[in-house]
Amino acid sequence: MAAPQPPDSPAPPPALPPAPPTGLPPYDDGNVFARILRGEIPARRVFEDDWAVAFHDIAPQAPVHVLVIPRGRYCSLADFSADAPAEALAGFWRAVGRVARELGLEPGGYRALCNTGVDAGQEVGHFHVHLFGGRRLGRMVPPGG
Ligand code: AMP
Repeated sequence: MAAPQPPDSPAPPPALPPAPPTGLPPYDDGNVFARILRGEIPARRVFEDDWAVAFHDIAPQAPVHVLVIPRGRYCSLADFSADAPAEALAGFWRAVGRVARELGLEPGGYRALCNTGVDAGQEVGHFHVHLFGGRRLGRMVPPGG
């Protein structure tokens, strides 16, 4: 018989099915962000620790446009959220917030965005969070319904 749970302990979540494909191909070690992680191509790095690396986007869409990526081999938020160990999840998301703070984005506010799969137009198959800031960013998504 299962041990009774203390009242402040949430029930464990049910096991998840495999991460949905989101229309992306399987992880490819030749993707541009994997190559940046290995130091094979240059990037203007602004932060790195055991869990994440952050660098300026090569085609910025705001005065500040930085990408934060985990060191692990994850295609998108779908497999990162489903498969990454808790330590990696915590380390990565702490790094996202820390990078925004260190870039001076907190007083004015900023947007963190992750394109996931084909409908979102994800181009690079290594999970990444965009950080945008430095101006009023407008609507969340283009109108269209
Ligand atoms: P996404 O559409 O969410 O996959 O965004 C991919 C982002 O990666 C785009 O904003 C690109 O400008 C950016 N990008 C592509 N290649 C590089 C690179 N070598 N260094 C920095 N950013 C890059």
